[in-house]
Amino acid sequence: MRRLCRPLALLLLFPLAAALPGARGRFWHVTDLHWDPGYEAAAAAARPCPSSGGRAGPAGRWGSYECDAPRALLRSAARAMRDRLPSPDFVLWTGDDTPHVPNEQLGEEKVLHIIANLTSLIKETFPGTKVYAAMGNHDFHPKNQFPGKEHRIYNQTAELWQPWLSDASLPLFRAGAFYSEKLPGPESRGRMVVLNTNLYYDQNDETAGEEDPAGQFQWLEETLTNASRADEMVYIVGHIPPGFFEKKRGKPWFRRGFNERYLGIVQRHHRVIAAQFFGHHHTDSFRMFYSDTGSPISVMFLAPGVTPWKTTLPGVNNGANNPGIRVIDYDRDTLQVLDMVTYYLNLTRANMMASGQEEEFPVWEEEYRLTEAFQVPDGSARSMQAVLERISGDLHSLQRYYEFNSARYDLAPCRQECRVDHLCAIREVDFTKTSESLASAVMAKSKRKGGEHEITLLANQ
Ligand SMILES: [Zn+2]
Ligand SMILES: [Zn+2]
Repeated sequence: MRRLCRPLALLLLFPLAAALPGARGRFWHVTDLHWDPGYEAAAAAARPCPSSGGRAGPAGRWGSYECDAPRALLRSAARAMRDRLPSPDFVLWTGDDTPHVPNEQLGEEKVLHIIANLTSLIKETFPGTKVYAAMGNHDFHPKNQFPGKEHRIYNQTAELWQPWLSDASLPLFRAGAFYSEKLPGPESRGRMVVLNTNLYYDQNDETAGEEDPAGQFQWLEETLTNASRADEMVYIVGHIPPGFFEKKRGKPWFRRGFNERYLGIVQRHHRVIAAQFFGHHHTDSFRMFYSDTGSPISVMFLAPGVTPWKTTLPGVNNGANNPGIRVIDYDRDTLQVLDMVTYYLNLTRANMMASGQEEEFPVWEEEYRLTEAFQVPDGSARSMQAVLERISGDLHSLQRYYEFNSARYDLAPCRQECRVDHLCAIREVDFTKTSESLASAVMAKSKRKGGEHEITLLANQ
């Protein structure tokens, strides 16, 4: 109740607060919708959904952990967003729209049809709202194969997103699916930089061997340099993040050279980067970036996916999640992240409560508020370093983080190996340092007598 009343009270006291720099604003971050258009027909025929690869039996009304999202789940997510915050300052939508099915079951037209369909859903949910959309590795055909030059899929996607893109962004998008825009509001000194990091994916054969696909790195450096000169602050947004997947030890996404270059850019330009927002993992986590002297200089937030799809990546144990969506509270002047509230749908419970009434949507509950759950003042790099130290040194906090990681799907205890994987992935985006971090964890493990010392050692590195 207190939380609901606070913004209202502020508006009553300061009717002009929304127009003043430094006011608190809010925006949505939604990612990895992965619509499975064949879900409902398969469920009706008691066949496995197409995205399960034959794994799953009959699926629930709102979805299944082995499957990508049915239409009903996406409509329910859209409804929950509109109910919770119908007029955000803007929306971040970080890609992956199509189902996890083999390329042969898709094709350029089908991929574009799915992107168009989800674009409409988001437009209808937030009419007139600015949406910063990034392409995910599944938003292409063949998947992952993004070229560093013009392509029909870039052109067609630019057409679909044209109402959200400025005239200056359109040619850039057509040439490489990245762009940068000033945030709305005449007084704003905020800037959004939306990247196509699919160009750096190690599964992308199109850009293998290239030094700077589409010239995106050079463009990013120039954009950040210009932002610094103009006294702007920047959010960097993209789909595939640098660094490692916390659910599979030593599993990176970027090619090594691209990972190094990205890190170097963050190190050089961190003063203008207020935060970074990415998807692709389907899990809720964050990544820390450090200066050469070890000070925390930037943080990247990884938002949970809407699809509950259990990953088929070998070596990942029970890698599904509950569907999640997220609101970020921020300072409109400095872009500092002030807080973050994650909402989730308990899919098991939603399916149990399914009734015959078509329009009855299940409740997306508040899962946690960052500042309350981890007792930090905000979502700055310094505060997120404090969160990392807390989950490194305190088993209760680690378990809390771990349950949020899958939006409360996996509630098993996060023991020794799990701790190492998560803490190393959050702490080390750098390839070499990750190997060192893992190696020292293994050494610590061989030295320790009890079970509690390893995480302390990791925290003190
Ligand atoms: Zn995805
Ligand atoms: Zn992805």
